[in-house]
Amino acid sequence: MIVKPGMKVKISDFYTGWAHNDELKEAGKDVVKQRAGEILEENRTALTTAQELLWADNRYSILIILQGMDTAGKDGTIRHVMSGVNPQGCRVTSFGVPNRQELDHTFLWRFWRATPGRGEIGIFNRSYYEDVLVPKVHPIIMEDQQLPPGSGSNAFWEARYKDIRAFEEHLVANGTIVLKFFLNISKEEQKKRLISRLKTEEKHWKFSLSDLTDRQFWDHYQRAYEEVFYQTSTDSSPWYIIPADYKWVARTLVADLIVRGIKKLDLRYPETTDERKKELEIALYELQKE
Ligand code: AMP
Ligand code: MG
Repeated sequence: MIVKPGMKVKISDFYTGWAHNDELKEAGKDVVKQRAGEILEENRTALTTAQELLWADNRYSILIILQGMDTAGKDGTIRHVMSGVNPQGCRVTSFGVPNRQELDHTFLWRFWRATPGRGEIGIFNRSYYEDVLVPKVHPIIMEDQQLPPGSGSNAFWEARYKDIRAFEEHLVANGTIVLKFFLNISKEEQKKRLISRLKTEEKHWKFSLSDLTDRQFWDHYQRAYEEVFYQTSTDSSPWYIIPADYKWVARTLVADLIVRGIKKLDLRYPETTDERKKELEIALYELQKE
């Protein structure tokens, strides 16, 4: 599930269902689903506590990056995993097609501005990884992006991967934990979800004709993602490939990895100095004698 640095992966080798080992298969879907629900609940509570401590400690930040094909479940994962978290310390930013002002800057510009501050959890719903996916699969869109000559060449893509590695390395070195999740759905499951969007009026707003176009480029996207994993899974910010045909599986795994990520930090509440303790004692005394 974790992509080891320098490893060439084939997405088709990764399982998208609920039983990625024999032990789970033996236990059966109902049992696994129930246990997953319990683990998600435990992790939600753990996340609430961990976030409070992250905020009080105020030295580290968490950046969660969610990528995946259309309908992979990015929005729902954010909603479920972060439901117990204090909104004050958490910010979700969704990135769509870049606008004119964004295109007038380098591709990382808009992401810089959205990085989480110390003590905060930032979530990127899509990210700068789109910049090495969409234009790579549809080079024609670069014609309208005022890019310098040579754009679209191998050297151009290599430079983007390098920029991304450097960007993340910089964040990590300065106290940000970068967690990158690829929600891995099968092509069949995407078909089901798209059909459901078309058949359910309350889901119509989620459907975009471009989803169908991109579906025709499924294999191109898979290859582009494989290159992303190869180029940008590093020791300090590895990629996690998350089986996502079942929403409950994806949500449970993502929540678990976030909690584990935060727990690795040496978070603590700021110490109360002796001087400050005296100050507090006096305040308490004043209040009590009122
Ligand atoms: P959604 O996530 O459904 O709101 O869709 C956002 C759309 O914006 C998707 O089709 C993305 O592929 C597209 N998008 C996001 N970032 C970029 C980018 N840098 N270049 C081109 N398209 C992008
Ligand atoms: Mg969409």
